[in-house]
Amino acid sequence: TICVIAIGANKDAAVGVTTNGLRFKVPGRVGDSPIPGAGGYVDNEVGGAAATGNGDIMMRFLPSYHAVELMRHGVSPERAGQDAIRRILKHYPDFNGAMIVVNNKGEYGAACSPGYKTFPYFVRTGDMTNATRVDINCT
Ligand code: ASP
Repeated sequence: TICVIAIGANKDAAVGVTTNGLRFKVPGRVGDSPIPGAGGYVDNEVGGAAATGNGDIMMRFLPSYHAVELMRHGVSPERAGQDAIRRILKHYPDFNGAMIVVNNKGEYGAACSPGYKTFPYFVRTGDMTNATRVDINCT
């Protein structure tokens, strides 16, 4: 899965989420990617979030909506993503997934389940000349 979140200077936000499906996916499977709030979610007033991982689990928790709503109440992008992943792990301890999260102030972060060792993402804010790779630990 590739997730992209873009927030313009006027705070218009957009999110895009691809999916390769999961291995052995059954015909007709939907997964999380096309479901607003699961694979991705944005609100111009807040920012956005997008997720990769086991979509059959994530689609039950709307982790992208969860993270955006936490940011609406002042939680940082990183903490919002961590909380959304933690909520899923509470019910599915073997869940594998990760999220990128950004608010409309340009603050950003990511979170991942411990099944991944590290998780890479790229970011470019208004004061950067190039996209920069960030690697987080998934402990
Ligand atoms: N989330 C995708 C899906 O379940 C898979 C992935 O992230 O690679 O369709």
